[in-house]
Amino acid sequence: MHIQNFINGNFQNPLSNDWIPNYNPSSGDVYGQIPNSSKEDVDAAYEAANLAFNRWSQTTLEERSRILLKISELIESNLDRLAKAESKDNGKPLWLAKAIDIPRASSNFRFFANAITQFASESHESIGQNAINYTLRQPLGVVGCISPWNLPLYLFTWKIAPAIAAGNCVIAKPSEVTPMTAYLLAEICNEAGLPKGVLNIVHGLGTTTGQAIVEHSEIKAISFTGGTSTGVHIARTAAPMFKKLSLELGGKNPNIIFADCDYEDMLTTTVRSSFANQGQICLCGSRIFIEASLYEKFKIDFIARVTQLKVGHPSDTETKVGALVSKQHLEKVMSYIDIAKEEGGIVLTGGNKVKVKGYENGYYLEPTIIEVTTDECRVNQEEIFGPVVTIMPFTLEDQVLDMANKVKYGLSATLWTNDLKRTMRLSHKLQAGIVWVNTWLMRDLRTPFGGVKNSGVGREGGFEALRFFTEPKNVCIKY
Ligand code: NAD
Repeated sequence: MHIQNFINGNFQNPLSNDWIPNYNPSSGDVYGQIPNSSKEDVDAAYEAANLAFNRWSQTTLEERSRILLKISELIESNLDRLAKAESKDNGKPLWLAKAIDIPRASSNFRFFANAITQFASESHESIGQNAINYTLRQPLGVVGCISPWNLPLYLFTWKIAPAIAAGNCVIAKPSEVTPMTAYLLAEICNEAGLPKGVLNIVHGLGTTTGQAIVEHSEIKAISFTGGTSTGVHIARTAAPMFKKLSLELGGKNPNIIFADCDYEDMLTTTVRSSFANQGQICLCGSRIFIEASLYEKFKIDFIARVTQLKVGHPSDTETKVGALVSKQHLEKVMSYIDIAKEEGGIVLTGGNKVKVKGYENGYYLEPTIIEVTTDECRVNQEEIFGPVVTIMPFTLEDQVLDMANKVKYGLSATLWTNDLKRTMRLSHKLQAGIVWVNTWLMRDLRTPFGGVKNSGVGREGGFEALRFFTEPKNVCIKY
């Protein structure tokens, strides 16, 4: 099967006829080819987007909203097909794609279809000067959206929906590792009546296609989600052109557990926040700090729960941990288990590849818990992005706060306690864009989403996203 680019409402091969193999992580087989689009393909996408911009930016909000709602409905009615495609492309359990990824992609369109009708700008009356200032919020023009492989359609649509809701035209590139649902989304956009050229999807490698999008002098903004080192490169490339940038990057999130928490709730959620999606969620709590008085009990119970998680084929309904996304990624995650051992970490459970019957070449790994004695070891400082977590005890609040903040990342933090004063103290002091207290990954799409430090710049979500995808212009009228 050959995936094609989606330019000006048409499906087309890359101009260079250069293709990349697409792997099924659950079996290790190549099951398709995707375009490795060149600068010329990106130029063609730009022409289409630029041509569509005048009309799209003048389309009424009601009309834009109606089309976005239609896309949302069509994602919903294609749930099975999209979930199967996502699971096959990414290795995630099918039930997870059905319960989370695809419904969330639909919600993204529904949310921004509604949000755009409520988005308003300010006016300032200059009293005593007979003047009124108001702010126009104008779309930027043609913008670039680049997304990663871990939550493919979920994160792809999280960017595209606000961009087009705000009146921009988009050139989007999904990860070359998981291009399939982006390809299917293109069909849905045509069916929903999205005008030609409003959304263009070019497939390919980051270093060729992604780079061409970032380097394009007329693309006004880049919304990027991916690794921190890629973010650094994109920032360096885009800065001299003064492009607007939103960078959602890596994380190494602390999960801080106090002895006064609701134990069962904490334990169940901690299993999820450690290993959901094979630990390949930027928000996973991969550094677990447990108050010393609870440590031994937690350690025993956590190991018991984690050893019960079934590693298996994504289509098996019993599977809790599917395949990692690629062979290279599996090797990278495995290398961190070796590093942990070299640094004195103790593997409490997991640490080995798994051979799933009938799918022996798939990229499976046991969920792994490593006990560490210092928060400064590499496995506690560097993003692994797989089913690997560390645990260690703490005694003092200040000590755990210091350890939680002593990493270069600052995406999210989770706190388990029933002490209100402690909650208030720590949520103020934790260096993170999101703090969850007694929960994890609970999302309200109106809230600002993003990180501090090396986890990125800018915020997505709610009106923050609509602000990013518009340019404020002050108009001052003297009367
Ligand atoms: P990645 O940085 O390798 O790739 C992300 C996207 O960028 C892909 O589409 C890739 O093709 C493209 N890309 C790569 N090089 C490029 C370049 N030079 N110019 C333009 N585009 C380029 O990341 P990944 O491995 O796909 O995803 C995993 C990373 O994403 C992890 O670090 C994870 O923490 C992060 N992530 C962050 C968030 C968040 O919201 N902060 C969410 C999900 C994933």
